Amino acid sequence: MFNKLFNKAVLSTLAVCLTAPLFASEINVYTHRHYATDKKLNEMFTKETGIKVKIVKGKSSQLLKRLEIEGEYSPADILVTVDAGRLQIAKSKGLLQSISSDTLNTNIPSHLRDPDGMWYALTKRARVIVYSKERVDPKELSTYEDLTNPKWKGKIAIRSSNNVYNQSLLASLIAHNGEEKSLEWAKGVVENLARKPKGNDKDQAKAIAAGIADIAVMNTYYIGRMANSKDLSEKEITEQIGVFFPNQNDRGTHVNISGIGVAKYSKNRENAIKYIEFLASKKAQTIYAQANYEYPVLKGVDSSTLVQSWGTFKEDSLPMNTLGELNSKAVKTFDKAGWR
Ligand code: FE
Repeated sequence: MFNKLFNKAVLSTLAVCLTAPLFASEINVYTHRHYATDKKLNEMFTKETGIKVKIVKGKSSQLLKRLEIEGEYSPADILVTVDAGRLQIAKSKGLLQSISSDTLNTNIPSHLRDPDGMWYALTKRARVIVYSKERVDPKELSTYEDLTNPKWKGKIAIRSSNNVYNQSLLASLIAHNGEEKSLEWAKGVVENLARKPKGNDKDQAKAIAAGIADIAVMNTYYIGRMANSKDLSEKEITEQIGVFFPNQNDRGTHVNISGIGVAKYSKNRENAIKYIEFLASKKAQTIYAQANYEYPVLKGVDSSTLVQSWGTFKEDSLPMNTLGELNSKAVKTFDKAGWR
């Protein structure tokens, strides 16, 4: 009788164990990043901590809107997005909460995180000038400012001003040179355009290969992705273009970030912090750098071989939050300059 009862108890305990969720806890991540790298990192994090990562993917603007509408009922613990401008928007709309972590303060340089601890950079990308190896001598290139030089008339390809990457680039010019000079700069670039701004960053490299433009502005990781694309025509295009890091003799090349923050109404704050610390660790930073042709934020982590082949460069160390703060001025300046 006792045996029978005992067996029943063991069996029911076993049943409970088997039907109980495998993961003691989970975090909900709203992310704009859509790379295979991120999936791999999430799996590694779960394996290490037992914390399951549930992903909600979307465009940045959609995710911000969703967080706003959901308010205190939002299940989001984490927001991941690209560009300092967008992180600043999330901060100013009250969608993030402040955290502090010794690990993050050690691993992430201070100009790459929000002074109030609302967001932290995970990776860096440089916005470089690319050029036709056939038609342009890189000695002709120097600074972003020099893109207004009349020698480039009808030769520049760059995407539209509603793109946040360009808004942040202009915000950096406003920070360094002032509003008036930046308006002149934007007008000067418009004067030199090879065509009306259109397409994404990759399309600007394609315009060079098609002979429409001689130089273009784009983020470095797109060159990496094209060079390793299954689409052979993209691969061929990258063979025709060179990478130039502007402003090496003064403030350095404009860089931007992809970044992360804890959602304002997160119910799993501690686990959310653990997640960010994991992504800033050497292991995770190495994977980011190798797989998506971005620059790690953690010092001492090597970039991929291809990224290294473009050479080292001096980067503009303007605090990232400045880019966000000057975003609306940049948008207005583009408008005034007629950069569509
Ligand atoms: Fe991008």
